[in-house]
Amino acid sequence: MSNKANGNFGDFGGTFLPEFLAEILGTLAEKYDELKVTPEFQNDLKALYKNYAGRPSMLYYAERLTKKLGGAKIYLKREDLNHTGAHKINNVVGQGLVAKALGKKKLIAETGAGQHGVATATIAAYLNLDCDIYMGARDMDAQKPNVYRMKALGAKVIPVTAGQGTLKDAVDVALGAYAQDHADTYYLLGSAVGPHPYPTMVRDFQQVIGEEIKEQMLAEVGKLPTAIIACAGGGSNALGAFTAFIANEDVELVAVEPAGLGAETEKHGLSLGKGSPDVIHGFKTLVMHDDEGEIAESYSAASGLDYPGISPILSMLKENGRLALGGVTDKEAVDAFIALSHLEGIIPALESSHAIAYLFQDHGKYSNPDDIVVVNLSGRGDKDVENVFENLI
Ligand SMILES: *Cc1c(COP(=O)(O)O)cnc(C)c1O
Repeated sequence: MSNKANGNFGDFGGTFLPEFLAEILGTLAEKYDELKVTPEFQNDLKALYKNYAGRPSMLYYAERLTKKLGGAKIYLKREDLNHTGAHKINNVVGQGLVAKALGKKKLIAETGAGQHGVATATIAAYLNLDCDIYMGARDMDAQKPNVYRMKALGAKVIPVTAGQGTLKDAVDVALGAYAQDHADTYYLLGSAVGPHPYPTMVRDFQQVIGEEIKEQMLAEVGKLPTAIIACAGGGSNALGAFTAFIANEDVELVAVEPAGLGAETEKHGLSLGKGSPDVIHGFKTLVMHDDEGEIAESYSAASGLDYPGISPILSMLKENGRLALGGVTDKEAVDAFIALSHLEGIIPALESSHAIAYLFQDHGKYSNPDDIVVVNLSGRGDKDVENVFENLI
């Protein structure tokens, strides 16, 4: 094991991998540092944000939700309106360009519920790259529509039957395939987690969300918001919304994690709220543990939030006292899913519904009508309607 002393965020981050993989990623980190400062890369990125992802995304004044809550003005950052329906496209266009610039022929990725697999297959199609998506066999059964989307986009979906046949096993098999074929392939990671340079890269490609919020707020209202609220699974949409505001200390940054069946139960995903430092998937961060001190399994009805670790950058911000933390149960999220759909005619992803639900909780924080609160609506809920009505209501 090797911890190269870069990509550290306070006590978190780094690279904890076997030497040969650490070297491959060390090279990637160097290449990315060179690439990201070139005008050509930045221009290509801006063009893809605009012409492919559909940016800038709208900053929407949720007037009916505001009236219902009776306090601060609520705005929604509409990442649900991006091409493919979520913030994940911001990351894959960026990493896709990195892969292309490095002369790679194939993208590989693992996927759980299939959202990241679909996003990766999308950019692979656009950039004319081959695409192998590793997916647990059990997940493939449970998520057929996303498997068909990936196939339609030209990706090969490779079932992983090892272990439990779920995401964790898919990660191991995908990493093995990458190690064998790293000269021609690029491993595209889906959130601001994993070893260096992924947390940095994903943060860099998502921070456009907060930069736009800032510009749109100043243009429309002439001041910065009181608070920005985002759900946090791996932490990429939260960091995307927060990064431009970290230096604006008056702006409260709220990361809302899944409390699942309840914070007091063992069925939740409160990595920031209840975790302690440990190494997971090649990096150090706050991780959930069981009573024996082993890494615990996480749980959330929102599969995008179901991860026992969290971005090392969010762990650092928490330790620095820069984050406010929220926890929202499955039930509260489903109630918010229905409430936003009824009030505004906007069906939010179950993940994003956690951020909306935070507004409905009884903390009395946003009662002043002069205040402005921005909720990052990370994605649309079309993918969730069946599960909500069949299983969750
Ligand atoms: C994947 C996903 C998330 C969780 O990922 P983060 O890295 O925490 O942002 C949240 N919302 C939606 C809509 C997603 O698809």
